[in-house]
Amino acid sequence: MATIDDKTIVQNYFNAEGFDRWRRIYGGGEVNKVQLDIREGHQQTVDTVLGWFRADNNLEGRTICDAGCGVGSLSIPLAQMGAKVSGSDISAKMVGEAEDRAKQALGEANLPQFSVQDLEQLSGQYDTVVCLDVLIHYPQEKAAEMIKHLSSLATNRVILSFAPKTVAYTLLKKVGDFFPGPSKATRAYLHREQDVVAALQAAGWQVERTGMTKTSFYFSRILEAKRLPEGVTAPA
Ligand code: SAM
Repeated sequence: MATIDDKTIVQNYFNAEGFDRWRRIYGGGEVNKVQLDIREGHQQTVDTVLGWFRADNNLEGRTICDAGCGVGSLSIPLAQMGAKVSGSDISAKMVGEAEDRAKQALGEANLPQFSVQDLEQLSGQYDTVVCLDVLIHYPQEKAAEMIKHLSSLATNRVILSFAPKTVAYTLLKKVGDFFPGPSKATRAYLHREQDVVAALQAAGWQVERTGMTKTSFYFSRILEAKRLPEGVTAPA
């Protein structure tokens, strides 16, 4: 019997009940306690990444690909900071919301270019490729393929986040709260940091900065990787 693959399930989810749920979580309106905790945790992840860009102080005019951009939570502040942002997402509804929010926040000034695309279909070259809280929707093998593809698009740096397997028990317990009931379910996959790092190294990157967000219901490990110096290969 044919099974629906993870990507189709995720796409359908984020075009339907997942869209309503996450648009609220990633917004400013009233939400329940669990959703508020997730909203605050996610904002911390976004702030960590924005803090890295701010510390580097060279964002003006740089090209950033925000793969799986959701409602634009990262794309919009990056554009406000002067980056040339291309945001894309597999969900047309999320992209529509990102476009609306960007226009509200930015007017016509330096709007990100948004498109509906599976991140594995993205092409082009960008200074930095960012992919936040997307790998959680895919098993390790698929996540490694995605990291490889995203790496091929980046000239300077890749930043990604994932749900670390070390907090597996807590997260698995809580994930039921984000996606209750089988009809609303998308699976949440946890990734071992060493597997994610190995996928990055195989693509020619070394981890330079790390962050961790941990609230009661939200966990996200954040890695920034840069190109290995010429002639240096990753340890076996
Ligand atoms: N990165 C955004 C953020 O941190 O605000 C959104 C995170 S949200 C939990 C996950 C997003 O990944 C959803 O908008 C979903 O549609 C998108 N997504 C999932 N699989 C994708 C894929 N294969 N290609 C592009 N986007 C994808």
